[in-house]
Amino acid sequence: MLNIVIFGAPGSGKGTQSDRLIEEYGLHHISTGEVLRDHIARGTELGRIADSYISKGQLIPDDLMIKVLEHVLDSEPELTSKGVIFDGFPRTIEQAKALKEMLARRGSRVHAVVGLEVDEDELVRRMLDRGRQTGRADDNLDTIKNRLKVYHSQTQPLRDYYISEGKYHQIDGNSDVASIFDRIRTSLHERVPELQSEADKR
Ligand code: AMP
Repeated sequence: MLNIVIFGAPGSGKGTQSDRLIEEYGLHHISTGEVLRDHIARGTELGRIADSYISKGQLIPDDLMIKVLEHVLDSEPELTSKGVIFDGFPRTIEQAKALKEMLARRGSRVHAVVGLEVDEDELVRRMLDRGRQTGRADDNLDTIKNRLKVYHSQTQPLRDYYISEGKYHQIDGNSDVASIFDRIRTSLHERVPELQSEADKR
């Protein structure tokens, strides 16, 4: 099981680059934001709770979010066969520690953290653009501002956490999709040889 965490501020291109990584390495994709939006669309109890946080640009509480992720991993065993791209999880140090334990229980670990680093005005521009194109409810200026505030206070500290674990791949995420993906691939292949051989097999 080869696991990659894709990490960055809202609007940094995590979903877009995840699609490329899936193609390159044949990994499965878990986007916790998508899991929650699916619950909201289906009107479940979790969806109702999640919506009350998402619409304000706040994070879902750690204990609930950790249970949701554990449930996804347990309910879809094929996810853990080859490996997973974790998109939007972890978002706090507590979630990172929980992920480490969840993977250790499955005999695995996080192999690499891809950190997409994008200038703040570009993040806002991308999210407003996405909001106009997709109608995503939390891509409006007020919520975006709060999401960025929450990112800086609660999620960004994870960057140092993963640097200290020697897993962080710093990627300049300001340019076009293809150039950013090239940078990701080069960085991963330099430091995670298992990924290079996975790409070669395909
Ligand atoms: P995303 O699609 O990753 O931008 O997530 C959209 C929203 O879902 C976030 O702004 C949070 O409110 C919520 N969310 C997604 N993942 C998490 C997580 N790991 N922890 C807490 N809240 C989350």
